Amino acid sequence: MIAILKHGTTPEQTKHLINWLARMELDVHVSEGAEVTVLGLIGDTSRVDMELLSSLEMVESVKRVSEPFKQANRKFHPNDTVIEVGKVKIGGGNFAMMAGPCSVESEDQIIEVAKAVKAAGANILRGGAFKPRTSPYAFQGMGGQGIDLLLKAKAETGLPIVTEIMDISTLDLFADVDIIQVGARNMQNFNLLKELGKTNKPILLKRGLANTLQELLMSAEYIMSEGNENIMLCERGIRTFETYTRNTLDLSAVSVLHELSHLPVIVDPSHATGKAKLVPPMAVAATAAGTDGLIIEVHNKPACALCDGAQSLTPAQFEELSRKVQRIREAIV
Ligand code: PEP
Ligand code: MN
Repeated sequence: MIAILKHGTTPEQTKHLINWLARMELDVHVSEGAEVTVLGLIGDTSRVDMELLSSLEMVESVKRVSEPFKQANRKFHPNDTVIEVGKVKIGGGNFAMMAGPCSVESEDQIIEVAKAVKAAGANILRGGAFKPRTSPYAFQGMGGQGIDLLLKAKAETGLPIVTEIMDISTLDLFADVDIIQVGARNMQNFNLLKELGKTNKPILLKRGLANTLQELLMSAEYIMSEGNENIMLCERGIRTFETYTRNTLDLSAVSVLHELSHLPVIVDPSHATGKAKLVPPMAVAATAAGTDGLIIEVHNKPACALCDGAQSLTPAQFEELSRKVQRIREAIV
């Protein structure tokens, strides 16, 4: 349930109302926008007398929120959420260009790619240290050592870093990581989501291979219900009957998620397509569709990559893509 307050309601009146609602054992989330203040009520709202609440002097209107996601819902928070990672802002008109290799492979590799993507316009460095691989015999990532190398690349370039967590037992290793990625395969690992909700780290939450947008939003809700509101939703392609591409990029997710939620939306055209030649056109299309950012795999030698070489761009290809994305952004404002 939400209560929209009248323009001009004083902070004292708002506080008084919140206290009254809290006495009904409801959690009250306050969203103060330039135009309106919205109180989002979570808990057993059947205790609330809607007519009484609507009749209060400072209350403009009261509405039930029928969707099961509440805190992630735009009705709870009409303004776009803006996530701050160091000096980089994401959402609400601020664009994140995340780029880097699928996996951290060596110090030379990650430093070289970090410098190259920064020069080409990236403002966040990606790199997997813990890798969820389909085969147990495939390269599993460098683990904690990979995170140390990402931190070295961050120190060299100043780029904030994003890297995937697979198991909550490794959380301590992520203390200096700027954005924690929850991969597609863990989107519904609810225990992991709840624990990440107790941190204040920005989370890049990827859509599961076969999950609906509502399920993605419910996973964001798991994190938010524990107190962490810094979430970016990532569309990375879903399983369909099409086999030409690795997955099928659901571009309509950008508009749907923006309509349903206030959280920033990031598109990953690398995992969505699995083919380097398809990454630039899909990145451009996602930008035109209004995404708040992109996450792109870039490798200094894609042919030698230990993971996902076929979908990785060279730094030169990334630079060209980055320029196109910039032009699209200027065209759509
Ligand atoms: C990745 O970003 O390298 C990755 C494994 O992505 P996803 O979870 O989307 O497959
Ligand atoms: Mn990958």
